Amino acid sequence: MAKEIRTRFAPSPTGYMHIGNLRTALYEYLIAKSQGGKFILRIEDTDQERYIEGATDIIYETLKQTGMQHDEGPDVGGDYGPYIQSERKDTYLPYAKKLVENGAAYYCFCTKDRLEEIKANSADKVAGYDRHCRDLSKEEVEAKLKAGTPYVIRQKMPLSGKTSYTDVVYGLVEIENSELEDQILVKSDGMPTYNFANVIDDHLMNITHVVRGNEYLSSTPKYNLLYEALGWDIPVYIHLPPVMKDAQHKLSKRNGDASFQDLLKKGYLPEAILNYIALLGWSPRDNREFFTLNELVENFYIEGLSKSPAVFDIVKLRWMNGEYLRNMDPDKYYALALPYLKKAVASPDIDLKKIASLVQGRADTFMDIAPLIDFIDALPEYSTDIYCHKKMKTDKVNSLENLKAVLSLLKGIDKRDWNEEKLHDSLINLASEKGVKNGQIMWPVRTALSGKDVTPGGAIELLYILGKEESLARIETGIDMLEE
Ligand code: GLU
Repeated sequence: MAKEIRTRFAPSPTGYMHIGNLRTALYEYLIAKSQGGKFILRIEDTDQERYIEGATDIIYETLKQTGMQHDEGPDVGGDYGPYIQSERKDTYLPYAKKLVENGAAYYCFCTKDRLEEIKANSADKVAGYDRHCRDLSKEEVEAKLKAGTPYVIRQKMPLSGKTSYTDVVYGLVEIENSELEDQILVKSDGMPTYNFANVIDDHLMNITHVVRGNEYLSSTPKYNLLYEALGWDIPVYIHLPPVMKDAQHKLSKRNGDASFQDLLKKGYLPEAILNYIALLGWSPRDNREFFTLNELVENFYIEGLSKSPAVFDIVKLRWMNGEYLRNMDPDKYYALALPYLKKAVASPDIDLKKIASLVQGRADTFMDIAPLIDFIDALPEYSTDIYCHKKMKTDKVNSLENLKAVLSLLKGIDKRDWNEEKLHDSLINLASEKGVKNGQIMWPVRTALSGKDVTPGGAIELLYILGKEESLARIETGIDMLEE
């Protein structure tokens, strides 16, 4: 039987979901699910100084909102828990000691001061540890341990030769061993570093495919040396290019770029965001653009991943989001848009469902709704110039005349009959009685009701939405303005 495919999403709890991380999670999910495998969530919180309250909840919430249901994780359990690294603290040290025993790691007793000193004295500021403790004798080590001297455990890198591996996206990666620093595996507080924990956990959790950012491309040889020293199988590696803000800069929350949560707040849909980012680094076999998560699972193939960095294009996302909104079931749209509609319209007795139907085709995000309907609560100030419309053949003179006729006609319509059909028929009749074009009636009415030259919905819809009293008041205002 073929080995079960297992991928893991291993975020550090930073308090927000970076778009690049979300895309990594998505590809991990797709790699597993497209092959009937399992998608695992592991929280990497060994850097306790960076601990942020509530940060793991954002991770759970994001996976829920996007529908990427994990099969195992801290909240749902599984056979390989705990799934939070800080809760696995005792797991790592025995493996580090085993590495010491078989010569792949060593105890280092260097003090912080000494480490700072070598850093300060080094011409190459990034040069690492000088391997001072690498060749301590067994007796020296034992004496120091007995005396309770604080220590870290470092990886003992080979000093010559090369380590190479083949990455699914980047191909052959090869590094001179002499360039590898004797990195810390276990810190003095007993916590593993990320560099150590990821190897131990990926092995213990039976992870078959490791997907992560390309910033780890050059660290991976170090991990492979650990796998080898422990006699373990090396997973398949899939490194991903960064998501870019532009040709030079990576997308980064630190530079104020939007996180997943920011985009939701800006009125984007989780499914549109997910669809959009799926295509930032992966191409379907055809030129198809729209995919639900399940459709991505059905169409995903690993060779479609690309190593050329993709630029996050908010204009494209807006468009895609708009397409999702326009194609949404109207009831669902209304339910999702309601909080935004309520914020935009304070007047009571306004048919928000009707408004939803008018804006659904026009707003690319939920945030676009408010400016479209900013005239509902109160008539904005406007210039009478907008009564003049060439194509409608309206000018200030005929607009005034027609508005007066509309006003007396509408006054005669009973409040109970104030519906779109009745309003429509009445205005159309008026146009034909007067022998004018429909637009010569409709345009001035819409203008008087909204004070704008572009509105969602036309004269009839606005009359219905605003109601009799408010509509008459606004038409009277228009007449007064035109008479001046
Ligand atoms: N905790 C690491 C990060 O958030 C994960 C890297 C990996 O997937 O191994 O960058």
